[in-house]
Amino acid sequence: MNHENWEARCQRCGRCCYEKIEYEGRVYYTDKPCDKLDLKTCLCTVYEDRLREKPECIPLDKDTLQRGILPGDCPYVADIPDYNTPQLIEDE
Ligand code: SF4
Ligand code: SF4
Repeated sequence: MNHENWEARCQRCGRCCYEKIEYEGRVYYTDKPCDKLDLKTCLCTVYEDRLREKPECIPLDKDTLQRGILPGDCPYVADIPDYNTPQLIEDE
């Protein structure tokens, strides 16, 4: 898959840009957005330079998809069998 097709899968919902906690192999979403996320457009304000501007930002590649970081209905992971869907903290 080329770069454009890979990027085109993103629906620009911004949900993966909220802070997360990883505990005992499971990812939990908090309600705190990344300070680089524009809450009106749901877009990253530093996208092209995000890995330098925000070192904690996790690049999405085939290796990171399996970590359970993205919401279960995100197009990047929706077709992964037995995907380890992250939880919202208030779900617990
Ligand atoms: S959750 Fe998926 S579709 Fe939404 S912004 Fe993140 S990568 Fe894109
Ligand atoms: S820096 Fe990363 S986590 Fe923060 S808004 Fe941009 S893409 Fe999302």
